Amino acid sequence: MNLILMGLPGAGKGTQAEKIVEAYKIPHISTGDMFREAMKKETPMGLEAKSYIDKGELVPDSVTNGIVRDRLAQADTEKGFLLDGFPRTLAQAEELDLILEGLGKKIDDVLNIHVESEVLIERLAGRIICRECGATYHKTNNPPKVEGTCDKCGSHDFYQREDDKPETVKNRLAVNIENSAPILEYYASQGVLHTIDGDRDIQSVFNDVKTIIDETN
Ligand code: ADP
Ligand code: AMP
Repeated sequence: MNLILMGLPGAGKGTQAEKIVEAYKIPHISTGDMFREAMKKETPMGLEAKSYIDKGELVPDSVTNGIVRDRLAQADTEKGFLLDGFPRTLAQAEELDLILEGLGKKIDDVLNIHVESEVLIERLAGRIICRECGATYHKTNNPPKVEGTCDKCGSHDFYQREDDKPETVKNRLAVNIENSAPILEYYASQGVLHTIDGDRDIQSVFNDVKTIIDETN
């Protein structure tokens, strides 16, 4: 079960990923999470990534492809994986096929969560994340059940992402809109693309995701 979650920033990839990995017990591979971890540890790769992320730009393919190649070589991906936020350029999609070919694998489904830009801006402005476990919430759309307490780990420490500031969000959306069209065509031509209306409640989106995964795997 080798899956890709696609969608513009704020479409709900991370939110759906939490549910998919819980239901199907496959590892969640988020390049954004890997970059944030490296930035937190201030590794040389993290510092390089930060210079792009802070501007809402994409981290260069040479860096991003390398971390995905290393991650997919790990044993826990044997029975499947969920890629989130990768590929984000056509060159990354082509490189991913080469990496998978080397591993004797292929992509089974690309789940593309579609949401209009105006909705995304509002979602990103209200996104909050648990500093302890990384669970994602929205201040009004999807708040923790008990105010100020993470449902998953009980922590009271939440933060807003630096790159969710309105000035960065505009550029992130523009960059991602421009790059995503050729990738969607690429996967459509491979017959693995499924587009899902992401402008519905979280559980309805997940029901569609589940139906697609169960039909094709
Ligand atoms: P992505 O990983 O695609 O950037 P997230 O999963 O982090 O997106 O979601 C962005 C924001 O929108 C979060 O605050 C999240 O709680 C909220 N959100 C996610 N899915 C939905 C939905 N279906 N309806 C409303 N808000 C949502
Ligand atoms: P995300 O958490 O997926 O929204 O990613 C946060 C930021 O990390 C993006 O705005 C990019 O700067 C960078 N990033 C994440 N994934 C990629 C990728 N596949 N290619 C290039 N940059 C990426």
